[in-house]
Amino acid sequence: MSDYDYDLFVIGAGSGGVRAARMAATYGAKVAVAEEYRVGGTCVIRGCVPKKLMVYASKFSHDFADAAGFGWTVGETSFDWSTLIQRKDAEIDRLNGLYIKNLERHNVEIIQSRAEIQAPHRIWLSREERHVTAKYILVATGGRPNMPQDLPGAEHLITSNEVFHLDEMPKRVVVVGAGYIALEFACIFNGLGAKTTVLYRGEEILRGFDDEIRATLHEEMEGRGITIITEDNLASVEKHGNGLTVKTIAGRTLEADQVLSAIGRSPYTNGLGLNKVGVELGRNGAIKVDEYNRTNVDHIFAVGDVTDRVNLTPVAIREGAALAETLFNNNPTTTDYENIATAVFTQPEIGTVGMTEAQAKEAFGNLDIYSAKFRPMKNTLAGNDEKMLMKIIVAADSGKVVGCHILGPDAGEMSQLLGIAIKMGATKADFDATVAVHPTAAEELVTMKEPSRRVRKDG
Ligand code: FAD
Ligand code: NDP
Repeated sequence: MSDYDYDLFVIGAGSGGVRAARMAATYGAKVAVAEEYRVGGTCVIRGCVPKKLMVYASKFSHDFADAAGFGWTVGETSFDWSTLIQRKDAEIDRLNGLYIKNLERHNVEIIQSRAEIQAPHRIWLSREERHVTAKYILVATGGRPNMPQDLPGAEHLITSNEVFHLDEMPKRVVVVGAGYIALEFACIFNGLGAKTTVLYRGEEILRGFDDEIRATLHEEMEGRGITIITEDNLASVEKHGNGLTVKTIAGRTLEADQVLSAIGRSPYTNGLGLNKVGVELGRNGAIKVDEYNRTNVDHIFAVGDVTDRVNLTPVAIREGAALAETLFNNNPTTTDYENIATAVFTQPEIGTVGMTEAQAKEAFGNLDIYSAKFRPMKNTLAGNDEKMLMKIIVAADSGKVVGCHILGPDAGEMSQLLGIAIKMGATKADFDATVAVHPTAAEELVTMKEPSRRVRKDG
């Protein structure tokens, strides 16, 4: 009989916590998970899933516009925000129910309460006003949206937490920031018919992605009617009647119904009691862990966004699974962070895996760049000028493909498959040896024969 109430106590029922809890229970551990909001976490409740449903909703307006070139007459169209929100909420409730059922089926006890660490092996459940003990504690509390510091009128901003539950569809939206969340929502609101402006402090949107992809996405988002203001930022937000007046540092005035702040997220470690047991934190309050997700306190572990490594759902899931393997299946497991494919669900969409050209130049010096920008077949009859971009980055000395970046329809789907090839170490010769699938856009990936550019160490 164990000296503790549980073998594993998980704080946070999001992507990482749920996977760790369920797998640990499968291996025979006695497991509980505490959740202060809703089981499923950010991804299911207010992240990836509802966002993607809204992406689907927003694409129809572009499809209606394209349809005429194929002979369709689309009558008058209209969009009802409350129908979308209600149906989206029903789907989120369904998924939330499935997550709960799945945990229960694996004998994981769900405790609907905020949990904090009180002392070694001891957790305080604030809603139930009692404590429990556990041999191991897993912190999987995720992240929270950042807010601008000292901004006059900051209380009028919304973040991705609120955007899924607005009472009305805003007719004019200012989106602050130009990362994943900002650009995905700018495209969603634009597609749904709002006058949309992106306000970004840097020179070019989507820092960290390949420069050609960034520049082409910028052009295409503007082509779809989004205004992108760079090298400027919020100075104040003032409410008047039902609207908001945004003043910018460069002296612009913008009128909006909603201002969405999407300026990054920080690990949610405040008030968790980590200081009481001496858990070390790093930059931005992230929990420091080793490759086995162990903190400096040997019975406390952390996975997912709270560790601020790669903040994506599949990564949190991998880390949670690795933890259960390590602690309860006698199989020490780490997570491989190399060549993780990712998608940005902008319109057009981005799919990417591996290094950007700048990173590859730094790492390898000599590169062959294969890049093709073209109008996808569907756009010809549609009379739509939007371009697709495909870019393969090859380390010239080895012939290995070290990065692949796509902007255009279904880019996310393609990046998942490219991820397999690149993870396996595919060379450009392997791409060339692959027969094309015709007619597809993806065939461009195996038919680019001559480099568009050669980048050389000393050139
Ligand atoms: P979370 O899923 O955030 O779960 C943490 C849970 O802990 C939450 O449920 C929280 O309520 C709970 N909690 C926190 N503190 C406590 C406490 N003290 N006691 C009890 N419970 C607590 N990733 C992708 O891969 N693809 C996407 O398309 C994508 N889209 C996104 C869109 C948006 C708008 C956002 C915000 C994120 C998106 N992400 C996406 C990122 C993804 O959601 C996260 O990487 C992922 O959810 C991290 O999982 P996690 O388990 O670390 O944390
Ligand atoms: P990101 O880090 O992607 O983007 C933050 C943006 O805000 C950047 O443009 C950044 O600019 C800007 N910014 C930061 N601080 C300030 C400030 N003080 N004032 C003005 N602008 C500022 O964060 P997100 O919040 O968009 O997303 C968080 C994470 O969630 C992502 O990194 C990703 O890991 C995950 N996610 C994944 C998705 C997917 O897989 N499709 C979708 C959504 C989220 P700068 O570049 O100049 O620093």
